[in-house]
Amino acid sequence: MEEPGGPEIARLIALMAKLPGLGPRSARRAVLAMARRREALLAPLARAMADVAERAKLCGLCGNLGTSDPCAICADPRRDPSALCVVEDVGDLWALERAGVFRGRYHVLGGVLSALDGVGPQALRIPQLEARVAEAGVAEVILALGATVDGATTAHYIAERLEGRGLRVTSLGQGVPVGGSLDYLDDGTLGAALRARREF
Ligand code: ZN
Repeated sequence: MEEPGGPEIARLIALMAKLPGLGPRSARRAVLAMARRREALLAPLARAMADVAERAKLCGLCGNLGTSDPCAICADPRRDPSALCVVEDVGDLWALERAGVFRGRYHVLGGVLSALDGVGPQALRIPQLEARVAEAGVAEVILALGATVDGATTAHYIAERLEGRGLRVTSLGQGVPVGGSLDYLDDGTLGAALRARREF
């Protein structure tokens, strides 16, 4: 189907439709709303996107997405270096930060182990995790992985790899829904799950 607005607008709609939560219909509505507010919305949005496209990078230490390496969290001397929270995805890290419930540092795996999808430990940032806990004065590793089968498998694998190093390995307490990503939890639930963490 051809977009009545012409090829440039069609291209923008097609790109927007690839975003999570948007399909062609929502993308079309969004583009129309932006184009109607060209100076107030579309132009600043384009500049903001160009900025991020140019400057976005992953933190070499924790895997967070930001505009500096190391990221603002890793570079912050007020963060507790003895607690390391392991999450599946950058979105989970952002959820915990938004909730303001954790004052340690993070380690983003970039996924979970999955036999079905052929994701093994080398595809995730597990070797980097082992290297980090070996050198950085880490006393506790909190496994904040989703309550899915793959999340549980990954948590077990990591706990096994970290055994015998004198570390406290914990996982989030009740409140994380089965199959749920941390990103979907409200701040109160996330804080409660973190406070209720238990020995793995
Ligand atoms: Zn970082």
